[in-house]
Amino acid sequence: MDSPGSSNNLHFSTVVVGSYVHDHVWLTDRFPETGETRRALGFSTGPGGKGFNQAVACRRQGGEVVFIGALGDDALAQAARAFAEQEGLDCRWQICTGTPTAAASIVVDADGANRILVNLAANELLEVDFLQAHVASFSGARVLLAQLENSLDTVRAALALGRRHGLVTLLNPAPVHADIDAGLLALCDLITPNELEFALLLERISGEKVDHSGLATQADEQLHALCRRLDVGSVVITLGAAGCFVSHGAGARFEAGSHYRIPAERVRAIDTVGAGDAFNGALAAALADPEAGTFRDAVVHANRVAALSTEKIGASLAMPTLSEVHDRFGAD
Ligand code: AMP
Repeated sequence: MDSPGSSNNLHFSTVVVGSYVHDHVWLTDRFPETGETRRALGFSTGPGGKGFNQAVACRRQGGEVVFIGALGDDALAQAARAFAEQEGLDCRWQICTGTPTAAASIVVDADGANRILVNLAANELLEVDFLQAHVASFSGARVLLAQLENSLDTVRAALALGRRHGLVTLLNPAPVHADIDAGLLALCDLITPNELEFALLLERISGEKVDHSGLATQADEQLHALCRRLDVGSVVITLGAAGCFVSHGAGARFEAGSHYRIPAERVRAIDTVGAGDAFNGALAAALADPEAGTFRDAVVHANRVAALSTEKIGASLAMPTLSEVHDRFGAD
């Protein structure tokens, strides 16, 4: 276990607790059938993992970030450290000797659809004690951002630490975990599921079944009512090319009681891997910025960052910078 490159008494605007995964990205005209070997049209590797992608997205939007994650003791771990250093991303790595650094195969077809296989490896061993050892990172921060690629105990501890230090607790409930419960959601000020994750969460928490593919076209009032059943202050459902839907409860930390949609930006999407991560990292950066505007402004910004990320292939590598966002959409 170590914490390279920084002292423990710096103040960070956003603490990201999450996964690191080394991605192997394969491009194909179509997915291979069972038993078929196809020639790929291209191949690349790069840093990924929902947590790390979100930390990079946040950093590239100008956020002061500390990322807390786990690696094996291997060559992929060295690549992760080198990339983080290049990005100016302050990382606290728990090194898990004898367990590999996580890796994934991502196959992207000609339509930009993807199929992913991931070995979460070291991420599943990130310990609550390691978070406690780095609790100083939480003081003075504004936002805690977590996902579900670590153990639920670790995610729960991260959210609880965030809450105890008065941070905005933001959970991207991805990928949805079968054991997620109302107690864990109660630690969140804000959650950001996509349509499928929202439907699964709703079924898990309230027992209600909804067709996730119909959510984007549901009437706003109905969608708001469904969001309220999760009993989380604020819910932002990301709707892919349809943008996102925002729902705040009566006691929410932001814009209490309101709901609205933000349409997607029009871009030439070629790879939507990491779009949700771009959205979450940028949302955290905007919410952590004391000079930033309203919650709606933060969501508009996140929507722009996510849209731009779809124009490049890759996960962390595809995260747009703040100047790229300003060049495309203006600096308002
Ligand atoms: P998803 O995880 O697919 O719901 O996407 C997350 C966010 O990425 C969405 O809320 C949009 O802001 C953005 N996004 C995804 N796909 C597209 C697209 N084809 N065009 C523009 N924005 C997109």
